[in-house]
Amino acid sequence: MSHTLGNLFILTAPSGAGKSSLIKALLEKHQSNNAHNNEMQVSVSHTTRAPRPGEVDGIHYHFVDRAEFEALIKQDAFFEWAEVFGNYYGTSKIVIEQTLRQGIDVFLDIDWQGARQVKAQIPDTATVFVAPPSKQELQSRLTKRGQDSAEVIAQRMEKAVSEISHYHEFDYIVVNDNFAAALAELDAIVITRRLRKEKQIIRHQQLFENLLGGV
Ligand code: GDP
Ligand code: ADP
Ligand code: 5GP
Repeated sequence: MSHTLGNLFILTAPSGAGKSSLIKALLEKHQSNNAHNNEMQVSVSHTTRAPRPGEVDGIHYHFVDRAEFEALIKQDAFFEWAEVFGNYYGTSKIVIEQTLRQGIDVFLDIDWQGARQVKAQIPDTATVFVAPPSKQELQSRLTKRGQDSAEVIAQRMEKAVSEISHYHEFDYIVVNDNFAAALAELDAIVITRRLRKEKQIIRHQQLFENLLGGV
């Protein structure tokens, strides 16, 4: 896995901090830069939670029941999995490995427990913590998103503090106050990772052979 051209990124944040919006915007930006070249993907997790209005199976998540999820755990199909807000969430192993091998960057939108498990298996992973600018703003974004009940929002606000308490375990920290500024920072992290010598040697092997070859 360490010699794949693709880079693995993890984005973790308390619910409502904006990580899904940031990943979506980053993907759109890169797709419009390079319409013919699929250079990054978001990993689609499996979850046992019910789909929200508008969520599509296979696009936002693979929605499965607890028995199916537990069968996948037994088959060792997950790279990492965790129980978050009473539901199982997990990242499938095979898809990530295949995508990275194709030279495509992969983003995982997973909680801190998952981030820790992946980082332990692949230390080369760039882990990014996305923080909201304040508690009030976090609450207001969760409310404005209009996807969760008041009870679920209260539960997520309570969980936010424990998620945030792990911020120092991450390689990078982005504060999502002004969206465009946070997006530019995330993009800078991606570009820096791509420029590392280990990746550039693979990407530009032919160039260096030509540059160093006879006249
Ligand atoms: P969001 O917080 O609004 O993005 O809500 P989601 O339901 O999409 O995500 C719920 C939680 O599950 C978040 O903490 C995610 O980071 C986490 N999560 C999502 N996918 C995965 C995964 O594949 N693995 C792990 N470990 N956590 C995940
Ligand atoms: P997460 O995936 O972390 O749960 P979302 O991406 O769903 O968060 O964002 C939560 C809500 O906050 C969405 O309605 C989104 O449009 C909004 N939002 C995200 N980033 C910002 C920002 N910088 N300023 C204002 N609103 C934002
Ligand atoms: P939501 O229910 O709002 O979609 O997600 C709740 C939390 O679960 C979020 O913090 C999200 O990042 C996390 N999550 C989603 N998928 C996974 C996953 O596959 N693994 C882990 N560990 N967490 C996940």
